[in-house]
Amino acid sequence: MKIVAFKVEGNGTFSKDVPAFAEAIKASGAEIVLLPGNSRVKRSAAAAAMRAGAEIDTNVVDVEVADGKVLARRWVYRQRIFTTFSRAARPWVIVTDPSLFDELCAKSGAEMGEFAEAADAATRTTVNGVENAGTGGESTIKPDAKLLFVAGAGWTKKQADGALHFDDAAAAITGFLAKSGASLGSSKSLVDMPEAAAAFKFMSHMNQVGQTGATPRHQKGLSTCCHGEEPHVVGWRFVNERRAVNLDANCGWAQGKADVVYVADAFAVMKKVNELLG
Ligand SMILES: Cc1cc2nc3c(=O)[nH]c(=O)nc-3n(C[C@H](O)[C@H](O)[C@H](O)COP(=O)(O)OP(=O)(O)OC[C@H]3O[C@@H](n4cnc5c(N)ncnc54)[C@H](O)[C@@H]3O)c2cc1C
Repeated sequence: MKIVAFKVEGNGTFSKDVPAFAEAIKASGAEIVLLPGNSRVKRSAAAAAMRAGAEIDTNVVDVEVADGKVLARRWVYRQRIFTTFSRAARPWVIVTDPSLFDELCAKSGAEMGEFAEAADAATRTTVNGVENAGTGGESTIKPDAKLLFVAGAGWTKKQADGALHFDDAAAAITGFLAKSGASLGSSKSLVDMPEAAAAFKFMSHMNQVGQTGATPRHQKGLSTCCHGEEPHVVGWRFVNERRAVNLDANCGWAQGKADVVYVADAFAVMKKVNELLG
């Protein structure tokens, strides 16, 4: 397995470093590329990896090569969980903690690659157009809206009839957003759920609210089908007037995290609300 390390140091600009890193990754013919995670590399490596058709992981603190397999280790969830993982994609760019770079190069038996600065790279960007973040469609993130409407994973759970209702859920949520002008937030569980992605095209990880998501500042918040667990509620700390709809009378919202909790079926409630909104 070809593992090549580039000891990139000093200063560089995004516009020059991206093509230079991409060229270095491609020209090296490496399956695994190691880079030190200093500010220069962190600024440009992800874009360079994309250009080179590579996948990338950052903040890696350990690399292990055994039996033709490469394992990387890093902390996730704000240093609460230590993960060991691998990727099938090649080239795989691994950006290490800068202080561990030399040690990990030696440990993995990486050969040192030559990195040439791109002297003649274009330094101006031509803007062809602007696309909303997330889906490329109409944005559901509206920081100026009075109301934050949060959808949780309950919208994707089997309901009383034992069936899934993705399309009804999507219609209830988008219908309410269109009629109320509310901004859409989501729990982590919902945006991370691959089976929901097809029906919930109007949301992405950009909508996630919480400890590992956004902390929006809307005046009011309405949570639906979301349990109201602590890491999720952290994202509501600037939302003053809070209401929630949940089937579970013991959900987190009912434990002092919302002003009003409607113990009810959000499918029925939002359908009725949408009807009333006309
Ligand atoms: C370190 C750490 C950081 C985290 N950071 C975040 C973060 O930033 N943001 C985040 O969102 N999460 C975060 N999480 C995850 C969080 O703890 C929860 O797991 C997650 O938010 C739960 O999402 P949920 O409430 O949508 O789903 P679930 O826990 O599955 O809850 C679904 C809810 O829907 C209700 N329900 C189902 N059907 C209906 C219906 N018809 N009508 C009404 N209610 C219904 C159920 O009663 C249930 O309460 C973090 C976790 C950890 C450990």
